[in-house]
Amino acid sequence: MTTTHQGPRPRHVPQRTCIGCRQAEGKRALIRIVRTPEERITVDPTGKANGRGAYLHAQRPCWEKALKGGTMRNALKITPVREDVEALRAFAMALPAEESELA
Ligand SMILES: [Zn+2]
Repeated sequence: MTTTHQGPRPRHVPQRTCIGCRQAEGKRALIRIVRTPEERITVDPTGKANGRGAYLHAQRPCWEKALKGGTMRNALKITPVREDVEALRAFAMALPAEESELA
């Protein structure tokens, strides 16, 4: 029996892909949206809600991209209802327009 894991292991940071800009990012830098059992789409501030989720940067441009076309539909496998699109758009409006405001 041999030990192959000697020395410090690289620290594992979970990576998720932003569905807006398609860049992978540490999970904690992203906001999760989730498809609820009622087939609605909502922001998941805890990141722990059950259901199919997708991740987006806390930046308005990523949300705008995701809300256009079929990005959100492809990621969550449902067509968002108009109220949900509007709620997500309203959420996005409160986000910074640029990355520079991130901590
Ligand atoms: Zn992004």
